[in-house]
Amino acid sequence: MAENFDLVVVGSGPGGYIAAVRASQLGFRTAIVERERLGGVCLNWGCIPTKALLRGAELLHQLKLGEQFGIQVENSSVDLAKLVGHSRGVADKLSGGIAWLMRKHNVTVIEGNARVTGKCRLEVDTGQGTTTIDAPHIVLATGAHARDLPGIPFDGELVWSAREAMTPKALPQKLLIIGAGAIGVEFASLYNDLGSEVTLVEALPRILPVEDADISAFVDKAFRARGITIHTGAKVEGVRPAGNGVTASVYSGGETRELQFDRVILAVGIGGNLDGLGLEALGVKLDRGFIATDDYCRTNVVGLYAIGDIAGPPWLAHKASHEAVICVEKIAGVAGVKPLEKSHVPGCTYCRPQVASVGLTESAARESGREIRVGRFDLAANGKALAIGEASGFVKTVFDASTGELLGAHMTGPEVTEQIQGFALARGMEATEAELKHAIFPHPTLSEAMHESVLDAWGEALNH
Ligand code: NAD
Repeated sequence: MAENFDLVVVGSGPGGYIAAVRASQLGFRTAIVERERLGGVCLNWGCIPTKALLRGAELLHQLKLGEQFGIQVENSSVDLAKLVGHSRGVADKLSGGIAWLMRKHNVTVIEGNARVTGKCRLEVDTGQGTTTIDAPHIVLATGAHARDLPGIPFDGELVWSAREAMTPKALPQKLLIIGAGAIGVEFASLYNDLGSEVTLVEALPRILPVEDADISAFVDKAFRARGITIHTGAKVEGVRPAGNGVTASVYSGGETRELQFDRVILAVGIGGNLDGLGLEALGVKLDRGFIATDDYCRTNVVGLYAIGDIAGPPWLAHKASHEAVICVEKIAGVAGVKPLEKSHVPGCTYCRPQVASVGLTESAARESGREIRVGRFDLAANGKALAIGEASGFVKTVFDASTGELLGAHMTGPEVTEQIQGFALARGMEATEAELKHAIFPHPTLSEAMHESVLDAWGEALNH
């Protein structure tokens, strides 16, 4: 006998659990299937636990800054087990919070591995048997996994994925990180602050290659000043065990060198969690290893939807949650549901200095053929940044010169990840320079640099 629901979600990350909550709010009898822990990678093995670790590293760094405030701290050190314990504790608490949310919204949680066995039918292997579930709407939110490299597989010991990197038992003295996207630079920043000697290898010509070139250059300089070794336009040709660590063949600047490291973190991108879902038999269309969907998260199979990482880039938790609401509201026939506007999705990277951006980079805006205006304001001229002793960073804004549309905003420095929402809101509301110029930014705040950057684009900056 099959169990019946109106809507079933597979995967309980920030896409899946939000889809379940919204479906329940809209009156659907809803179930969610999860094979691991509620909350998915974001909450258990990604966004949240890494932020807990980074906060610890940041505190350690802040203690070193104490001297300018007359604070003497001698012999500050970090107890790695306690730091990791804090991070795991936060993940546990939040995962428990999702269980509570599911109960509150009457969502049935089914533990097991789901496979789509037909139109509107799922089979869940619960470990104790198989449960069949029928539902006219099945939302796939199974997420993604870290990719490894040919010849450099994850082994959990010497070659770490983010999971091992988040739960180190000991601090590697010499650490190689391959890939300088968000994950690579966050771990580079973390381990450097904790005291490891970090080498970062990136295949493309610059670190954080998706960010504006000025931002990449700024973070590159800041990282090097912190003692992080960076090789760009480089690659790791092989890694082999040597003693308690590895020897890595690193190709950089036209030559290959054999370098010794204790551990390696691979952060070279992700692949969709498609295996075992039964998609091939159903003829579900894919696009470069992810599920192809339309503007409302519908796959080519009626009644089957995909949201979040499994549905392609940008691979960000908040994009997943947003798609969850779009998908479920469209199913429910809510009026006025708008498709996701990818260029309105902000991106945040929690390295030191932090990076946050939304919309087009300067070069992408130029390549689009528009005439543009670019503004920039450095935190060195921001009173609050000076007062808190962190006056390093800048805000850059890119406008369409003829319409005044804010095309993109790029920030680096303290707490920019908390501020980018101002520009995301502006883009969402199709704000032009006129509204942004007339917006009132509180003084003294770091956010005044956002305002000044806008003014600067129009030659009207007041504080530089
Ligand atoms: P990514 O695709 O962002 O970065 C991977 C980097 O590795 C790229 O710069 C790529 O050029 C480089 N690379 C690939 N192959 C290489 C090789 N053989 N040698 C050297 N470099 C190589 O992927 P990621 O950093 O693994 O993150 C995965 C996804 O998760 C991304 O989409 C990312 O945006 C998202 N994420 C976001 C955050 C955040 O927003 N703070 C944090 C973590 C992850």
